[in-house]
Amino acid sequence: MTITEKILARHANRDRVAPGENIWIDVDVLMTHDVCGPPTIDIFKREFGENAKVWDRDKLVVMPDHYIFTANHHANRNVQLLRDFAAEQDLPHFYDVGTERYKGVCHVALAEEGFNRPGSTLIGTDSHTCTSGAFGLFSTGVGNTDAALIMGTGKIWVKVPETMRFVFEGTLPPYLMAKDLILAVIGDIGCDGATYRAMEFDGQAVYDLSMQERMTLTNMAIEAGGKNGIIAPDEQTLDYVRARTDAPFKTVYSDPDARYHTERVYDVSTMEPVVAKPHRPDNKAAVSEVAGTRLDRAYIGSCTGGKLEDFEAAARVIKGQEVVIDTFIVPATTEVGKALHTTYVDGDSLYDIFESAGCKLGQSSCAACLGGPPDTFGRTHNTEVVISTTNRNFPGRMGSKQASVYLASPLTVAASALTGTITDPREVLV
Ligand code: SF4
Repeated sequence: MTITEKILARHANRDRVAPGENIWIDVDVLMTHDVCGPPTIDIFKREFGENAKVWDRDKLVVMPDHYIFTANHHANRNVQLLRDFAAEQDLPHFYDVGTERYKGVCHVALAEEGFNRPGSTLIGTDSHTCTSGAFGLFSTGVGNTDAALIMGTGKIWVKVPETMRFVFEGTLPPYLMAKDLILAVIGDIGCDGATYRAMEFDGQAVYDLSMQERMTLTNMAIEAGGKNGIIAPDEQTLDYVRARTDAPFKTVYSDPDARYHTERVYDVSTMEPVVAKPHRPDNKAAVSEVAGTRLDRAYIGSCTGGKLEDFEAAARVIKGQEVVIDTFIVPATTEVGKALHTTYVDGDSLYDIFESAGCKLGQSSCAACLGGPPDTFGRTHNTEVVISTTNRNFPGRMGSKQASVYLASPLTVAASALTGTITDPREVLV
């Protein structure tokens, strides 16, 4: 069995499962946020009763993160509904807006708060819940009805996915990041190339990546239609997890003779920086092919490209220079936001580097990654051409349906912010 099949078998109390089987599994963590939390709670109450209690208050994580810093009445009401539910259910893992506990983007926060435990099952009401698979666990996004059933029972019905294996060999050049690797994969197999399959990432180049970079790979599994993305744990994984939680976990690994749907092998030493052109994540081009394309703004943020290492990479490019287009910096979480002040490149904090360069620094949240209300930081309103470290570029994703969004690595976005045109990071990295 593959790692995905083994985790699912364990959570179904079975010795074996095979792709295509429908099984009930136990859920270790259910995560919801301000967009899907309120309707999930509605369905939970409708199906289980107005006074029903969640199946296990220690296993429900509620992280408002999407529409946070806005005057929009509906957005604020959604957060209030979560607040009321957390109080009613006495939930220990509610990260409320306006308090010290507020975190920001859930997928990065789940890792920081120690909820990503190898061998476990983590289900969320958000398609990018697949991010957590970087820690060797089964994680996937579901709709509100499935989440409501989990809230009441702790279980979900899943079809065991086939697994596609992606092996990255070689040494990653300094001008490439995990974002380039996953954009290359999605460009190769298409937005539906992994529909309802597990995407397992392997190979020395993957294990050379930090946990933050591994999360960029699994984060975008859903952009190829993947049910989950997964990377087997190594020592780095275990160190990261043990530093954040005392909760027990059991590591799981694919069998040497596990059966895969397909296997693709990449030599990262020969790959190039890539972008996804408007308006699909699989609309791949080498940066060199689109270099010189005029831009109106740059955006560095989100669960894909708003982690500390994303900002470190960007700061290395931007340091000592000024951006020539509007450049938005949005740390995914408050932990990342604080670290911008305490992480240095050649003696200057990341925060100072971005501020001196003329970037606009925002508060931790999803912000303009998915558009949001009109007053959302960094949101497009017109025909802007944007280069962004986010994960989706469908029309209207960052606000305006007339805007065009190129997806790229933080290195490419930073290099482009300095020139106002799409720029290969190899031109600016010394
Ligand atoms: S940052 Fe973007 S992709 Fe990630 S959870 Fe928020 S809206 Fe979704």
